[in-house]
Amino acid sequence: MSKVERIELYHVNVPLDEPFYPSWIPGYPQTHVRFTVIRVTSDDGISGVSAGTAFSKERAGLGDLIGGFLIGVQADDLVTVRKRLREASYLGWRNWWIEGAFWDLLGKLKGKPVYKLLQDKEETVRQAKIYASSGEVRTIADRRPYLNDIRDKGIQAVKIRVKDPARRDDVTILKEVRKELGDDFIIGVDANQGWPVSLFDETPIWDLEYATEFGKACDDLGLAWIEEPLDMHDFDGMAALRKRIKTPIAGGELHGDWHEIRALFDHECLDKYQPDATFCGGLTVAKQVMAECRLRKLKYSPHTWTCGIGLLVNLHAFAAWENRELLEYPYEPPGWVPAKREGIIPPIEVNPDGTLDVPQESGLGIHINERLLRKYGKRFYLATPLRIAVKTIREKGLKTALELKRKKS
Ligand SMILES: [Mg+2]
Repeated sequence: MSKVERIELYHVNVPLDEPFYPSWIPGYPQTHVRFTVIRVTSDDGISGVSAGTAFSKERAGLGDLIGGFLIGVQADDLVTVRKRLREASYLGWRNWWIEGAFWDLLGKLKGKPVYKLLQDKEETVRQAKIYASSGEVRTIADRRPYLNDIRDKGIQAVKIRVKDPARRDDVTILKEVRKELGDDFIIGVDANQGWPVSLFDETPIWDLEYATEFGKACDDLGLAWIEEPLDMHDFDGMAALRKRIKTPIAGGELHGDWHEIRALFDHECLDKYQPDATFCGGLTVAKQVMAECRLRKLKYSPHTWTCGIGLLVNLHAFAAWENRELLEYPYEPPGWVPAKREGIIPPIEVNPDGTLDVPQESGLGIHINERLLRKYGKRFYLATPLRIAVKTIREKGLKTALELKRKKS
């Protein structure tokens, strides 16, 4: 019997050495990697960890909500944990990133790496091949050192960002990259049209006609995939585009739950499914996505661009997928580099053959450096059964608190 006895939440804020300009928020200089960390500990002293990407301290009140939902829950009962997370989400919180902590805990309880718990047939997977995922829109002159850098690192695939307001450079940059890398290098492109943000500069919005024109140019260049060429909810547009071009269409990174991803399958929108286990309904839904891809003979390669812990969570999902090809490795120096991306865990470096090691230990293999957590993080919530009881008695009175406790247990 392992019950959740302690929940801790931390804001983590890691300063970058140089600002990073994400193509998905044009004009925004990102100066920090920010995320929320959850550590869940059971009454037998085993902890599970996960993290959710953050803009700032927007989750400051989250503990008051989820503490009451999760404290005392059977730690290895993922069905109930997911039920509680869903119940806590009805008023607007989107917290599937928390689910990974319970998979981490479950892996430790069962003595297995999480990816093995996600597999249908148990198989040891030691490495996962990656593609370098750039994050900024750059000219070829600015991009050239990066291309040399990743080739030197043994990486054999890259994803380029495009987002020209005048639509002149979107294809040009790809032509130049193709010329630079030669015909055999694997090149994907991300248009980041799925969830447009125009907070600073206006983001160029693509329609089906432009996406088709762009897609045909990608066909000529032999690109491996086009990511998010249209809005994430333009199911009909993606389905129509898929019939018009040869290049595989990828997407689904920010869909929030199975019912949304199901719509992508039903409309036959995509060739490659990229739901991120920290957004899409957790590793449980990632497993569901893999099953659907298997059935329909489609591809699966999760989005990982959040933080190092998010990368590890999705690495386990990817390792559980038997037809794995390439996993996203977020990398855009000088700003977005492993030591900063990971922040409080050891940097996840690429092997000389362009692969990542898949953790083989129990759980997710997340090793928090407590010194770095103290340096970059701040605990903003701690729940224990006693704290929850005191809060309930204060708010509702002893009689009601006892009645509620009786019902819950
Ligand atoms: Mg993307």
